Amino acid sequence: MSRQNKEERVNGGADGRPSLAALLAAAGRDFYGRGWVLGTSGNFSAVASTDPLRLLVTASGADKGALTPAHILEIDARGEVTQGSGRPSDETRLHLTVVRARGAGAVLHTHSVWSTLLSEAFARDGRLVIEGFEMLKGLAGVRTHAHRETLPVIENSQDMDVLSRSLEGALTRYPEAHGVLLRRHGLYTWGRDLAEARRHVEILEFLLEVLGREHCAGLARPPVKEEK
Ligand SMILES: [Zn+2]
Repeated sequence: MSRQNKEERVNGGADGRPSLAALLAAAGRDFYGRGWVLGTSGNFSAVASTDPLRLLVTASGADKGALTPAHILEIDARGEVTQGSGRPSDETRLHLTVVRARGAGAVLHTHSVWSTLLSEAFARDGRLVIEGFEMLKGLAGVRTHAHRETLPVIENSQDMDVLSRSLEGALTRYPEAHGVLLRRHGLYTWGRDLAEARRHVEILEFLLEVLGREHCAGLARPPVKEEK
């Protein structure tokens, strides 16, 4: 890999285009502003090259409201840092798992209020089904509001071996899923590139909030039969 390519990833191209690291940092600050990655929660990654695999990933402990390209590290397929200083996010293994399983170009992970609440509410079912909403058409390949999106819900763990295997299992069992919920933890979604992954966060966070608010307001209850 040329030195120039490496510099472009961090500092941007000579034509003034922002670097991939700058775009990733901007996504983090935007998500922070929307309450989806408060404090140091959440983590983000984007594929810089596929052969060999080089993944840009947020450093552990980075405050997402103040994220800059300096908080973005480059790692290889084993999770070893190849550029930048600091330790990659604790959940880097999960990002690598999604990249391999889905051929994703970017993986974004949020800790929103609604994903935390709904992942608990649907933990026993092991999945959350969303259907009948126009916003579903924002998910890649979805053409109609009648689409039935199933988000698997997996148990949370601090053991990244366990969590990574569980995530891999969910991705295999639900090959059409655009995201996975971690119980009482948050949402993982991805896209073929960073722009698509960002769109998926926005769409899924919107839909989770709609479902959550609907549930709280009792709007989703089936009509009550009138007594005779
Ligand atoms: Zn997390």
